Amino acid sequence: MPKALIIGGGVAGPATALFLQKAGWDVALFEARPHPEAHGGLFLNVATNGLAVLDLLGLRDKLVALGHRSPYMQMWSGRDRLLGTVPNGPAGDPERGSVVVRRDQLHTVLREALVENGLDTTWGARLERIDEDAHGVTAHFADGTSATGDVLIGCDGVGSVTRRWIDPAAPDPQYSGLLSVGGFSRVPGLEPTPRLQRMIFGARGFFGYLVREDGEVYWFANPTSPEPDRAASRRIPGDAWLAELRELHADDPYPVPQILDAATEVGAYPIYDLPHVPHWHRGRVVVTGDAVHATSPNAGQGASLALEDAAILARSLRDASTYARAFEAYEQQRRPRAEEVVKYSRAIGRQKAPGGSRFAVAMRDLMLPLFLRSATKNTRNNHLYNHTIAWDETARLDP
Ligand SMILES: Cc1cc2nc3c(=O)[nH]c(=O)nc-3n(C[C@H](O)[C@H](O)[C@H](O)COP(=O)(O)OP(=O)(O)OC[C@H]3O[C@@H](n4cnc5c(N)ncnc54)[C@H](O)[C@@H]3O)c2cc1C
Repeated sequence: MPKALIIGGGVAGPATALFLQKAGWDVALFEARPHPEAHGGLFLNVATNGLAVLDLLGLRDKLVALGHRSPYMQMWSGRDRLLGTVPNGPAGDPERGSVVVRRDQLHTVLREALVENGLDTTWGARLERIDEDAHGVTAHFADGTSATGDVLIGCDGVGSVTRRWIDPAAPDPQYSGLLSVGGFSRVPGLEPTPRLQRMIFGARGFFGYLVREDGEVYWFANPTSPEPDRAASRRIPGDAWLAELRELHADDPYPVPQILDAATEVGAYPIYDLPHVPHWHRGRVVVTGDAVHATSPNAGQGASLALEDAAILARSLRDASTYARAFEAYEQQRRPRAEEVVKYSRAIGRQKAPGGSRFAVAMRDLMLPLFLRSATKNTRNNHLYNHTIAWDETARLDP
């Protein structure tokens, strides 16, 4: 049985392990973090297409039951005017729209599936170096241990060591100029927002929130900022970000200031993306997910793309006569779609920057309802959400 070393226990890694096991491969999964709880993080939108991949693994319903269904997004101006409501999923088919979950919940659902299928994760295994020869590929970890397999799949996120091994000149992630700062909150008397998230083009910054049935608020803001040192941004305590956000959103309508007043568990993440990585594989090594096409969170698609990669790569390895052909087929199928999403998500991000002068803000508030009205029926993005993967069909991999 061929063996795959999978590096990274985020979203792409566990999903790839589950699909490859179905494809008849032996898999070994390695994660740098010392234990599962260390994943933390805030929350994320798992889109219709990501849910379809989870369905192939029998995990869709379990995740949806934990999350907040949000087939719609309501857009509000900083003057408390409803600008429009748009589908957060395929136009005309809102029930198949997205679900918002705590990041931990997605990790837990994937991790439990690994355990149920008898797949172990080696925690505290930080990949440092890769060696390859005609017989196999060896991953060397920071603690001095190593592992050997037939192929190595880098699911090691935006700062990927694997991407750099494949191509030492691979591009660095590009900083968007925006931070994503978010957390959780409870505001007495604040009504739940069933089936939607609310987005506010605030006077001095963009703000989004939803209220679950149990009253818990998930919120985020996108302040502009010069590129922070990644480690430094993690060290800035939540209170410091909160003080800044309370000031920035002080003039925004109810319940924005109240959500910020009651906020807890604040986290801050600089937003990066990778619009084009020239080389996705070399020899026995291939990269997936954020490691090769990190996308800004604006389109809510990063985790869903990582899930799609997992299914397509595993299907290619199942059906191709060689790993080299499988990697080529995987790249051919995934690159155009992934690069399109990164670009689209960037374009959304540009609308989130503060509107500038009063005149510019007034113009935006005037034009957005027209744009949003047409977006409600616009099926231009349906191919993003309606992407399905025929796992049971043999992939056609001839050049
Ligand atoms: C603030 C924010 C909000 C987001 N919101 C959304 C959203 O709403 N919807 C959405 O779909 N996406 C969202 N995303 C993007 C989403 O989180 C990513 O696209 C997704 O997690 C990618 O999965 P991945 O497995 O490729 O990478 P990751 O989830 O980053 O996992 C990579 C894993 O590899 C491990 N690792 C790294 N280096 C090594 C190493 N050397 N050795 C071993 N292990 C290593 C890491 O510890 C990590 O566990 C958001 C991202 C951010 C930053």
